[in-house]
Amino acid sequence: MRNWSFFIGRFAGVDFRLHMTFLFLLLFILLGEVGRGGPATILRSSILTLLAVVSLVLHELGHAWVAARQGFPVKAVILLPVGGVAIGDPSVQVDSARSLRRETLIALAGPLVNAIFAAVAGGILLSRGPASMLLSPPLISVNNLGVSFFWINTFLFGLNLLPAFPLDGGRILRAWLAQRMEFRQATRRAVNLGHIFAGLLMLSGVWVQWLMLVGVFIFMAAQMEERTVMFQSVVEAVHMEDIMLTEFSILSPADTLEDALNKAVHSLQDDFPVVSGGDLVGVITRQMIVERLRREGNGYVQGAMSKAFEIASRTESLGSAFRKLTSRGLSLIPVVDQERLVGIVTLQHLMHSMGLLAESRRLRRQMEENI
Ligand SMILES: [Zn+2]
Repeated sequence: MRNWSFFIGRFAGVDFRLHMTFLFLLLFILLGEVGRGGPATILRSSILTLLAVVSLVLHELGHAWVAARQGFPVKAVILLPVGGVAIGDPSVQVDSARSLRRETLIALAGPLVNAIFAAVAGGILLSRGPASMLLSPPLISVNNLGVSFFWINTFLFGLNLLPAFPLDGGRILRAWLAQRMEFRQATRRAVNLGHIFAGLLMLSGVWVQWLMLVGVFIFMAAQMEERTVMFQSVVEAVHMEDIMLTEFSILSPADTLEDALNKAVHSLQDDFPVVSGGDLVGVITRQMIVERLRREGNGYVQGAMSKAFEIASRTESLGSAFRKLTSRGLSLIPVVDQERLVGIVTLQHLMHSMGLLAESRRLRRQMEENI
């Protein structure tokens, strides 16, 4: 999903990426102006798109500010023309969405920002001209950017309060549902309702064209969010004992680096636990071995291994272990049962083991069905 977006800037510590669908929005505005053409129209269409982007960035900063105050800092956001999808550590997002009060506060902050900007823009416009100017269609047009800014913000305010996941109203709905059922199921329900809203909007596109576009954007955003939650729940449902390697090579601190490299060649293993007298004393990677050999010549594993490592228990979830791995930049996590090393999970093998696990579960299910 990152491939469909590009980085546009970092504001208040949040990385903003713009989704490609904004190009559709620009194209849509331009097409509406066909015939009235000329470079000035292209410039004004671009400014109008830019106003939409600015309104959305402010909206997202509203969410991010409240989220950070609640202890859930947002790292990055992908902007779609209807709102943003927060990206980064999905588990953090899930944690914050589990509390109804917290999710409601975070969700309302975005539309509130748009309400404030609409009120300010409306106030300024009304002080300069008659109210009819604000109300005469087309409400959003390249010819009146001030009025358009007012309506874009009014529209973002109203739209985001719809209970159509992943719009803000839909997030509150999901948090409410999550009090009553499993989080994954709550997301499914909210997504389904979001799809219904998206469908209705697409249908109403017969009368008001741009509503169809809004429907399409909601649909896309819902898909993106659902995938994140589904990935998260898979990662939480898999335990270390399901995927750990139980046949692996170990090194001893007294092994020489040359011996260690030799072992790496013969085992196709990139990461090794270092064990001394049955105790796990460190971890070492093939890269660490090679670098130390190159820099200082032959020595012992003892001097090159890393003693700062994390361990996981058999029943720990992959998600939890994964967070340990990534927070320390490690590539191997030893699995320990009653202080005994029983397996390892490495980034190198993770995808492979996950694939095999899925395959074996599928086969087991098939066999059960055939009995
Ligand atoms: Zn929002």
